[in-house]
Amino acid sequence: NISENRPVIRQLDEAAINRIAAGEVVERPASAVKELVENAIDAGATRIAIDIADGGKTLIRVTDDGCGIAPEDLPLALSRHATSKIDGSDLLNIHTFGFRGEALPSLGAVGRLTITSRAPGAEAAQIRVAGGKMEPVKPAALRTGTVVELRDLFYATPARLKFMRTDRAEAQAISDTVKRLAMAEPSITFTLRDVSGGGEGRVVFRADRENGDLFDALHARLARILGREFAENALRIDATREGIRLYGYAALPTYSRGAAVAQFLFVNGRPVRDKMLTGALRAAYFDFLSRDRHPAAALFVDCEPTLVDVNVHPAKSEVRFRDPGVARGLIVSSLRHALAEAGHRASTTVAN
Ligand code: ADP
Ligand code: MG
Repeated sequence: NISENRPVIRQLDEAAINRIAAGEVVERPASAVKELVENAIDAGATRIAIDIADGGKTLIRVTDDGCGIAPEDLPLALSRHATSKIDGSDLLNIHTFGFRGEALPSLGAVGRLTITSRAPGAEAAQIRVAGGKMEPVKPAALRTGTVVELRDLFYATPARLKFMRTDRAEAQAISDTVKRLAMAEPSITFTLRDVSGGGEGRVVFRADRENGDLFDALHARLARILGREFAENALRIDATREGIRLYGYAALPTYSRGAAVAQFLFVNGRPVRDKMLTGALRAAYFDFLSRDRHPAAALFVDCEPTLVDVNVHPAKSEVRFRDPGVARGLIVSSLRHALAEAGHRASTTVAN
């Protein structure tokens, strides 16, 4: 009987949809940390503290002093495709990290999530969701900002659990993620603690708010994260072409590395890994480096949000420029220029 074997089309329920989306957004503990820290940055935080236990597998807690969430908005923050960051009509003009409204519902679908928050003029409140099941909002005690606590990531999706690496490897990935985000936000104080043993824990990384102008603050933050040697060998880059600005620091060829481990690229403040951009970096150093060496740099590409599409993939950090040639040309020519000048300065110093 054909009708009995006929496949039936059903609408998936919200919990199933969230779990599927979580697979895209949350690959590993570090991706959860990225989402939560980006939310804190979007909330205007000046201090962000990240506590992790067991490589983030059992606990990730992000505490910020940002704008907070009003009690009546807490259930919305956990609902799919609910965001305070865009009005839906302007996907081409994105100024925040978030805009999809996917991170919190996804995390709540694959772990035990507790959000405690206080918005100015409102009482502090708390909401919990575990394995996609949301509990009612209740009163809480908190002076300011937001605390998001994620426990037992992937407990609801055992297949995912198996793909996690050692605590050490996951903790390393989290530390890399936090440092990358901290590079782009020198005016925010970041603290990453490992609280695996309980108690105060061990400080893994700390960067206090940097003062001064854009370049001084960035230079100080890079010295903190990449080391004094990078900072002392870094050339200041600042160039603009056709509405795209490139700025940051690129190291002298003598500071190059045997692997591409010290290349940090950002588009409108977002850490990206993009073939076109790393290709441009490589091309810029082509005449200055032997083939087995890799340049070290922390570079920021800023432009009107309409000139670049950051909507390509939620986790993959790809971007698409409306005119990739302009961005590439800007990187290649301004870095070559800076490197040639530095080389010229060096050789005239030797000659004198
Ligand atoms: P998105 O960041 O794409 O908007 P999220 O699921 O990450 O989606 O967050 C949903 C909403 O919850 C945000 O739009 C924001 O209004 C609120 N929110 C999340 N984290 C914070 C935070 N740390 N401080 C204040 N509001 C937050
Ligand atoms: Mg977000």
